[in-house]
Amino acid sequence: MSVPFELVDEEEMQAIEAALRQASAFHRSRMLTAAARAQSSLVLVSASEIFSIVSDIEDSAPLPAALRFPLKKSLCVTDMTALEWCEKQVEFSFLRGKPPKTSAMQAGSARHVELESEVVKRVDVDIRTREDFWAVRFINYLVGTRQLLAEGLTRELPIVAFVEGNWWTGIIDELMLPEGSAGPRLIDTKTRLRQSLPSDAQKRNGRLQLMCYKRLWDTLCEQAIPLDEFFSNFELDPLQELSLSIRSHIVDIKLSSKVDCLKELLGVLQESCTVLPLADQLLKLRYEWQVDRSLIGEEEFMFDPDWLKQRIQFHLQFWNGSRESHLVSQSDEWKCRFCAFADRCKSENQR
Ligand code: SF4
Repeated sequence: MSVPFELVDEEEMQAIEAALRQASAFHRSRMLTAAARAQSSLVLVSASEIFSIVSDIEDSAPLPAALRFPLKKSLCVTDMTALEWCEKQVEFSFLRGKPPKTSAMQAGSARHVELESEVVKRVDVDIRTREDFWAVRFINYLVGTRQLLAEGLTRELPIVAFVEGNWWTGIIDELMLPEGSAGPRLIDTKTRLRQSLPSDAQKRNGRLQLMCYKRLWDTLCEQAIPLDEFFSNFELDPLQELSLSIRSHIVDIKLSSKVDCLKELLGVLQESCTVLPLADQLLKLRYEWQVDRSLIGEEEFMFDPDWLKQRIQFHLQFWNGSRESHLVSQSDEWKCRFCAFADRCKSENQR
């Protein structure tokens, strides 16, 4: 069965993975993969069939936040930036469902697809199990890092790492490796409805996002993935045979002469990670106007490990259920004017 392409971001990747876990009999789905120039390839998913399963799950009776968050097997970087925006809003989203994407968000997503298509070409592989799903994610990472080293640029790189006691996933927007530089520069492009730079709160979220990505990237370079914990956390069978098309794809793009299962693929990944350089300390946010894609401005800033650690640990207290969610501070109350849960929040919290 062939499924038309849809953009899948890191949260949707998590939703698909969760749906696959929930399905008692795995649905045979098509996954659109991407084979980039020469021997490179990157992969994106299309699985509208699976989303119907997600909807069923989301329609079930809501659980209290402290019970529901731990059901997620990993945290995505966008969870962290959403928490930084407003923890209460994240809690509402979990319990009552996310508000639909705005047209500005959809335009931003479409722009990311366009930027990605400048450096990759898609191919189809079959996804039959969650092990296949994860294999595709790791293939994308491997191919993307090879593309980065060979061509100095890659985009939409999926990443998984164990950081601060939690499994994290994310998709790094862009990595550049200019000639002579020690490590790749992480860049994130934000599209803007208005031709102006964003508020300080939005810039802060962008900075947090990029710092999280650097932390994930560096962790993978410095430490081997704890395999037993990985397979156990995500409830994966390390020896489950991957689909024929995935196994053939791995050989075709010369990632390895033979890989049969996820455990073997992770062996290839661990070897590759050890030769990768740490990411540059300098990170860059790029703001683009949605109307004509002209550059509004760029912001470069240094990685700040202490600030990052403090923000992560603060939000993990809520995420892991050891305290209640916080509302926005008084100085950030303007955010409530744009919040889909404002009425409910006001009545529940008398503000
Ligand atoms: S109304 Fe304000 S405090 Fe309440 S959830 Fe929304 S942004 Fe957060």
